[in-house]
Amino acid sequence: DRALVWFRRDLRVEDQAALHHALRSAKQVFCAFVLDRDILDALPRADRRVEFILGALQVLDDDLRRLGGALIVRHGVAADEIPKLAAELAVQAVFANHDDEPQALQRDARVADRLKSFSAELRTFKDHVVFERREVLTATGGAYGVFTPYKNAWLRKVDDFYLSPYPVERHAAALAPSPLATGVPTLQAIGFEPAGLTPHVGRGSRGAEELLDDFLDRIDQYHEKRDFPAVKGPSYLSVHLRFGTVSIRRLARLAHARATGGDRGAEVWLSELIWRDFYHQVMHHHPHAMTSAFRPEYDAIAWETGALADEHFAAWCDGRTGFPLVDAAMRQLNQTGYMHNRLRMVTASFLTKDLGLDWRRGEAWFAQQLLDFDLAANNGGWQWASSSGCDAQPYFRIFNPTSQSEKFDPQGRFIRRYCPELAELDDKAIHAPWERAPLAMQGGGYPRPVVDHAVARERTLARYAVVKSRA
Ligand code: FAD
Repeated sequence: DRALVWFRRDLRVEDQAALHHALRSAKQVFCAFVLDRDILDALPRADRRVEFILGALQVLDDDLRRLGGALIVRHGVAADEIPKLAAELAVQAVFANHDDEPQALQRDARVADRLKSFSAELRTFKDHVVFERREVLTATGGAYGVFTPYKNAWLRKVDDFYLSPYPVERHAAALAPSPLATGVPTLQAIGFEPAGLTPHVGRGSRGAEELLDDFLDRIDQYHEKRDFPAVKGPSYLSVHLRFGTVSIRRLARLAHARATGGDRGAEVWLSELIWRDFYHQVMHHHPHAMTSAFRPEYDAIAWETGALADEHFAAWCDGRTGFPLVDAAMRQLNQTGYMHNRLRMVTASFLTKDLGLDWRRGEAWFAQQLLDFDLAANNGGWQWASSSGCDAQPYFRIFNPTSQSEKFDPQGRFIRRYCPELAELDDKAIHAPWERAPLAMQGGGYPRPVVDHAVARERTLARYAVVKSRA
């Protein structure tokens, strides 16, 4: 008759599966979040995500109080804290939403085990994606490894049932004020320092609401604008999808309805939401790909190592490779925690194909810097760029960082924003200052290219030849 809802990557009260099911099955429902030391202790002391989470928890706590409940926040190891809380509150069940990352599954198995020892159970639900695990399979019952057939099957299967919300407010009478201490700690209280979260990210589910409102006014132009980093084209909702401060069902429902009505922008945006589901199910079916190449023959590639490789990696991380678009993108990531999708592809390609570095090094840097870091999507993106993924860029198709720059930032507006030392160059020179800028401006604080793209391209083709012989 008593239940505990354990919030994780679902920090909202609107259309929330676990919260909905708990409210419908128990008379008294308590709510908790654990600032998990297993995750937090490994992070640098200034981390934008921790700041984002605390803001989102405050909004969540406000919303729960408005409905008659409150949020208990613990700082400890989740696998210990949740069973402890369940015992203190004498609940029969803990409700949570699926988290299919390998480490999260292990944590949940430990929690479920401990709960059993005092006859309580862990009940989990799908909430984070529209379709998960084995819901979209090929005709022979296998997992899809190629996006387009997966997307077609996804679109055939989706209907009102899968997109309808899990209402919370109308069942909220079961929300109980907590007998234990509630409230969200400060950053300092959990041993962190401010990391400078950019305000346009927005606070929790209220921030998501504002971003969504703004995006819906321009979703019909998404397909035309989404590839140009200097233009406000995408939704910027990724961090909110990551932490569940917006419901994926709601977004998919909105996009699907507009796409069905002939809105091309909404149709292309829905496709991106389906990519998210796609990578999520790849993680379920192929957990090995989270640490090694999805296609094992790509593990035979010999990446550059040694002092020069380390120097190149540091230059890439810092945004000083001498390739303006790559550098502007890396500086955007480091300064804001966000990077435009086109630039994630350009910088990931540059790391693997121009610098010849192991994609896992880039993946790890993104994992540390990205506010929207998501294991499945990040790994999928990196394996796409390194050509080792399921539906990946063929290895012989290598982005030219200069032509990408000319095509997607033609006037260099994005470059000028993040590389102010290049701001005075004309629209042509800004893409390749080492050969097009007046001599007087060369060496003006901006580095010369760390590699020659044409030479690097040949080396990459040779490096990847090992794959052909093994495939
Ligand atoms: P929009 O264009 O508005 O797209 C809407 C939503 O669709 C996004 O918020 C995201 O949830 C989803 N989406 C879009 N593209 C993809 C994609 N290719 N794969 C999976 N989901 C997608 N996305 C992350 O959420 N976390 C990551 O850690 C991440 N790492 C990436 C690493 C690389 C190397 C690459 C190439 C892509 C990565 N992406 C990642 C995908 C994509 O770049 C971001 O989701 C997108 O840029 C976020 O901006 P937005 O919310 O404005 O996107």
